[in-house]
Amino acid sequence: MTATVQNDLLRVFENQKANQYRVAQSTFKERKEKLLSLKKAIEVTFRQEIRDALRADFKKPQAETDLTEIFAVTTEINHTLRHLKEWMGDQYVTTPLAYFGSSSYVKHEPKGVCLIISPWNFPLNLTLGPLVSAIAAGNTAILKPSEFTPNTTEVLKKIVKSVFASNEVEIIEGDAEVSTALLSFPFNHIFFTGSPQVGKIVMRAAANHLASVTLELGGKSPTIIDETVNIKSIARRLAWGKFMNSGQICIAPDYVFVHESKKDELLIELKSVLSEFYQNDPLNHDSYCSVINKKHTERLQSYLEDAVEKGANVDFGGKVDLPNARLSPTLLTHVSKDAKILYEEIFGPILPILTYTNKEEVIQYINSGEKPLALYIYSSNKKNIEYFLNNTRAGGTCINNNNMHFLQPYLPFGGDNNSGIGKAHGIWGFKAFSNERSVYRQHIPSVLEKLMPPYSANKNKIIEWLVKLF
Ligand code: NAD
Repeated sequence: MTATVQNDLLRVFENQKANQYRVAQSTFKERKEKLLSLKKAIEVTFRQEIRDALRADFKKPQAETDLTEIFAVTTEINHTLRHLKEWMGDQYVTTPLAYFGSSSYVKHEPKGVCLIISPWNFPLNLTLGPLVSAIAAGNTAILKPSEFTPNTTEVLKKIVKSVFASNEVEIIEGDAEVSTALLSFPFNHIFFTGSPQVGKIVMRAAANHLASVTLELGGKSPTIIDETVNIKSIARRLAWGKFMNSGQICIAPDYVFVHESKKDELLIELKSVLSEFYQNDPLNHDSYCSVINKKHTERLQSYLEDAVEKGANVDFGGKVDLPNARLSPTLLTHVSKDAKILYEEIFGPILPILTYTNKEEVIQYINSGEKPLALYIYSSNKKNIEYFLNNTRAGGTCINNNNMHFLQPYLPFGGDNNSGIGKAHGIWGFKAFSNERSVYRQHIPSVLEKLMPPYSANKNKIIEWLVKLF
């Protein structure tokens, strides 16, 4: 990177730093206006450009762009607008008797200057979604989208420019090198969405300035299907949640653990649903997204080949069109436990289907890996649901569905440890970009003042008594 580019980046950062207190003091009405302008830009002004850009970047079908990019952000804006006044207000807390004469409250103050780094799989949603929370909380922000979706970045630039001045929100284009340069600046908060591997790099860089972080990471999200499930009723949910966006979803079911007695039925139903979804021609179908690029298609192809070499059966799909970065929806069975596909996050349209006969082996297998970002349970049996829920850990869970917890604005979204640190969406997103400042206000002198030095025998007695009492 040239010194000029580095200086340009620093200038943007310094301008936001200088402007942060003005932005912080924005009223509810002003923040509301900004969010409404952002909503209009996404929903109306640039809507067709967004659709075209995502189609150009990885042939994302319009319906999926509308639902998973546009709606995901506008619904976050709507929810924020409904609650922002209340979130921004001071939250008064109880005053215990010992602090008689005072009152206390929590003031949500903005973190300051924030950096939002986003991945390519939902390039609009995962860049503007966190921005909604950052703006709601009164911050300035620099956005660094992925280098793999240049067309979407072009539209993002237009959207941001149409709503914000550069000293409030700015988009910086670039790859890991640009990201690294940005990470050297003393941001107050870094909101990163991406792989656990890069998440560690981000956290190390944040440590240099003790910047707080929200890390929205990935990993393997298991799906358990027990013996009590009506397979016919769930197959569509499962297939859509896995193969939408060509499986490039951080919370897509990564692999399935189905009870042995339901395996054949599951395969039949999934094949039937997938044939209906993409009309037996997924590689050429408009409703089916591409893999982001050739490199990732090769990565997925190598997982597939490795699994087959180790004994896996390709029950459905497995077709690859490398030049066009397309891989058909693929179902694998008899996957060896040492196949790469069971270790690496798949992040693509391949679904390994494992079987079990007793619940303990499922728990043992899942808990031997990293904590998942999502874990899905399909069951009609309350005891089984409780068992799987209480004996595993995960960032989020859907019961008898998948992926939907992302869109429920009253739920926090995020992982734990390897799948993430901190939460996003709604009030949790607002809090991620806020410092919960405690404010204690003295109204009349406290009784404690009577106990200040010199400490006489009497005072010591009263203090002893107070310690016992409170
Ligand atoms: P990635 O970690 O490779 O890249 C994410 C961002 O980090 C990009 O903007 C990239 O330019 C930047 N980056 C890459 N290398 C860097 C480095 N060395 N230093 C600083 N920045 C760097 O992830 P990706 O391939 O874009 O996305 C896929 C991953 O993201 C998957 O693991 C997926 O599970 C995860 N993900 C998580 C969520 C979530 O909400 N938890 C959502 C989507 C994707």
